[in-house]
Amino acid sequence: MPAALRRAAFLDRDGVINVDHGYVCRREDFAFVPGALAACAALHDLGLALVVVSNQSGIGRGLYSEADYQRLTAWMAGEFAAAGAPLAGAYHCPHHPQARLAGYRRACDCRKPAPGMLLAAARELSLDLNRSVLFGDKDSDIEAAVAAAVPQRVLLGTDGRAAPPADRAPLATARFAALADAMKSSPFRSALGEFAHA
Ligand SMILES: [Mg+2]
Ligand SMILES: [Zn+2]
Repeated sequence: MPAALRRAAFLDRDGVINVDHGYVCRREDFAFVPGALAACAALHDLGLALVVVSNQSGIGRGLYSEADYQRLTAWMAGEFAAAGAPLAGAYHCPHHPQARLAGYRRACDCRKPAPGMLLAAARELSLDLNRSVLFGDKDSDIEAAVAAAVPQRVLLGTDGRAAPPADRAPLATARFAALADAMKSSPFRSALGEFAHA
């Protein structure tokens, strides 16, 4: 009998986990959105696998390297683990149709709004997409969840318009802090329904 599929909380990175300064690639520029780690720990406690799904066209644009990204991600994963919110996986798309580096220049199936990263995670981590949730700060995040048949979709921050990061960050902060608080209350857990008592 196959192992039971796990529910997942898919997390966009920039603008959800960390303040979106644009092409964040160094630890010095990486500021966690207040409340984000606490909310993720609450999701983990509910039994959801935490999976980062991040467009990183900065790699294809030549702004930072794959190794830079992996270094930052390894550090970030350590911070998640220390906060009681261990990551089950971290997926990124380095591509862009107009990438400066030819090796990354393509219309791929992983750059959100395409669902490739979510589908790959479902295969590799044995996730049940139909009982999962995604947190994003852009329409493209939500569209990727729709395309992957992830039914619970939470838009944090702004709606994906090119709002200045300074406008976006406080909104994401407030929404995620509220989410962390809400998760402590039973009405929110029953609103999430199947996510409770996982
Ligand atoms: Mg984002
Ligand atoms: Zn891609």
